[in-house]
Amino acid sequence: MGYVEKSQSGQGTSASDLEQINRYTRRPFSDDEVYTFSVVLCDNEVDRDFERFSIASLQKLAELFLGRTGISDHSMRSSDQMARIYCTQVEKVEGKTTSCGEPYTRLTAKAYLPRTEKNRDLITEIEAGMKKEVSVGCAVSRMTCSVCGKPWHQEGCSHEKGKLYAGEACHVVLDEPEDAYEWSFVAVPAQREAGVIKAFRPEKGGDFTEILKKLDHPGEGFAVSAEEAAELKTYLGTLEKDAACGREYRKRLCAEVVRLAMVAQPGLSREVMARTAEAMPLDDLLAFEKAFRNAAAKTFPAQPQLTPTRATSDVANQAFKI
Ligand SMILES: [Zn+2]
Repeated sequence: MGYVEKSQSGQGTSASDLEQINRYTRRPFSDDEVYTFSVVLCDNEVDRDFERFSIASLQKLAELFLGRTGISDHSMRSSDQMARIYCTQVEKVEGKTTSCGEPYTRLTAKAYLPRTEKNRDLITEIEAGMKKEVSVGCAVSRMTCSVCGKPWHQEGCSHEKGKLYAGEACHVVLDEPEDAYEWSFVAVPAQREAGVIKAFRPEKGGDFTEILKKLDHPGEGFAVSAEEAAELKTYLGTLEKDAACGREYRKRLCAEVVRLAMVAQPGLSREVMARTAEAMPLDDLLAFEKAFRNAAAKTFPAQPQLTPTRATSDVANQAFKI
């Protein structure tokens, strides 16, 4: 579970912070125009779902959360109350160890929001400590069992989360984050539980490899020649790649629709929107994306003009530009 660490008003914003912030603004902002604060987004401790991020995951998430906007779930009307992360850092907390014996490590972020009339209440709430908790969403592509080290519930792993094995509670290690969605402030007491919302997206379809393996041994119910088997295998391989591209496209489109919906309609439940998007045919998703994008452009004034120059995911970012 994340939380707002401290607000940084009063001390002014440093020149280097301003420089980082101005990579995301349409025009350069001055010190007195922005309000900055720090949040702890997530850490490597086992959470209430008996899951934890590896330290490598936190480092990847640090990249993915750069430039991501945070919204307040407080008011249905305050669609333009948004803060943007402009700096992230993975930090080891001296002298603190996790329940797994790793050095306690957390992902912190600095965020800014323009000091506008519209944002005044939100800034006051952050300063007063009323906006303490932060809920974040991300997707990972690898889950590993802490007991046997195998991919979670695959290859014979049938361990159960939270159950004790040799005195240790089984949990899942989350690796290879692929996506970080928005984060949101959750008022305390929270209407819904704050925390890290995680999605698992395996890189490969599960049973396919098993079928391909069978094709390596024709004769056991497969009346195909070795050549045919080879052809079929190549063909399936091509289809699998194409399908992966399609899935990836759909996945990004879904994420984008949810993201834009949160900007355009902050009162909407992210979970409900995500479920709805998942079930939509592609045409509908495209139509919703267009509609939400138009609405979002009207409600969010601080559009980034320049995407930050990051080597890693410039292409990926195209899909997330407002
Ligand atoms: Zn296991």
